[in-house]
Amino acid sequence: MLTVNAIAATSATDPLVRTTIERRDLGPRDVLIEIRYAGICHSDIHTVRGEWGTVPYPLTVGHEIVGRVAEVGAEVSRHAVGDRVGVGCMVNSCRECENCRDGQEQYCLKGNVGTYGSIDRDGTVTQGGYSTHVVVDEDFVLRVPEAIPYEAAAPLLCAGITTYSPLAHWNAGPGTKVAVVGLGGLGHMAVKIAVAMGAEVTVLSQTLGKKDDGLSFGAGDYQATSDPATFEALKNRFDLIINTVSAPIDMAAYLGLLRLNGTLVSVGAPPQPLEVPVFALFSNRRTFAGSSIGGIAETQEMLDFCAERGIAPEVEVIGADAVNEAYERVLASDVRYRFVIDVDTLR
Ligand code: NAP
Ligand code: ZN
Ligand code: ZN
Repeated sequence: MLTVNAIAATSATDPLVRTTIERRDLGPRDVLIEIRYAGICHSDIHTVRGEWGTVPYPLTVGHEIVGRVAEVGAEVSRHAVGDRVGVGCMVNSCRECENCRDGQEQYCLKGNVGTYGSIDRDGTVTQGGYSTHVVVDEDFVLRVPEAIPYEAAAPLLCAGITTYSPLAHWNAGPGTKVAVVGLGGLGHMAVKIAVAMGAEVTVLSQTLGKKDDGLSFGAGDYQATSDPATFEALKNRFDLIINTVSAPIDMAAYLGLLRLNGTLVSVGAPPQPLEVPVFALFSNRRTFAGSSIGGIAETQEMLDFCAERGIAPEVEVIGADAVNEAYERVLASDVRYRFVIDVDTLR
């Protein structure tokens, strides 16, 4: 066992605190990663505040992890000491079910092992990336290209893949009109990636406060959802809408923006159900869909795509003691556009 410094939540209401956690001894196929940066995803906040269900406190969250390989098990062949690597939202899966065999480990029929709050293969509860080190099976460790700035690479491991996967699956590209709802961590990556894929992108944000940023990320249009005229002006317009909002929104209003055969994909994960009026789907034969992160091969594809296209998240790097304040700013939609913890401040 390796005892390492970390930040943990101890209850749904108390601030996160510094602590230590245990990492398992290196198995033959394990990689020990010295973590350098860890992104703060809104899912971390939903989780620690108990919004998604029971939490095994104390819990260290964080599933946007980048660092260097510090040690490898005897049978590890994909990674070597010193490699720049990343870990996203899952650290294992059954590898045998239909979905795993198809490279869709995120949809493992037995349930993938989440990077935090899941039961690991040794029976312990997995602990996430707000810590100095992590031990992960080599098959769930990604290569992070040197072309991506270190601190900016972390958010790709969740925000990047969660938006890349539906954009690729629903064929965002030249000739398609894509709307992104919510310009936060996921939303700003959805804009950058959809633009790089060649789509025509519109941002739908609560206000016009971040319009200059949205346009600088490549969006062609930016509209405020607080203005009812937006929903009239953009009616029947989009092929694909990516909803990244962390709270319930008026689904009928957004579905009304889809053209014939258009799809609205919700990646935002509010704890409350989304209400989908079926008549809003009948018009224009619309589809309402969901999407969860992405498979390991697809995550590597996304990292290589971002490196080749020069795409990186916009980040605000913070020290370990600023995490609670950062959570409040995320909740107030005051994030531009991802907080990333400099894990050296935990050593
Ligand atoms: P975030 O940085 O907080 O971004 C969410 C954005 O939604 C905000 O910046 C804000 O954008 C908008 N928003 C927030 N509250 C709103 C409200 N009440 N009404 C309308 N708009 C609102 O969060 P994130 O890290 O991108 O995560 C977004 C959601 O995706 C979370 O629910 C998270 O759990 C989920 N998620 C899902 C997956 C998956 O696999 N499906 C993966 C990662 C995260 P504007 O200021 O522009 O309006
Ligand atoms: Zn996440
Ligand atoms: Zn499986």
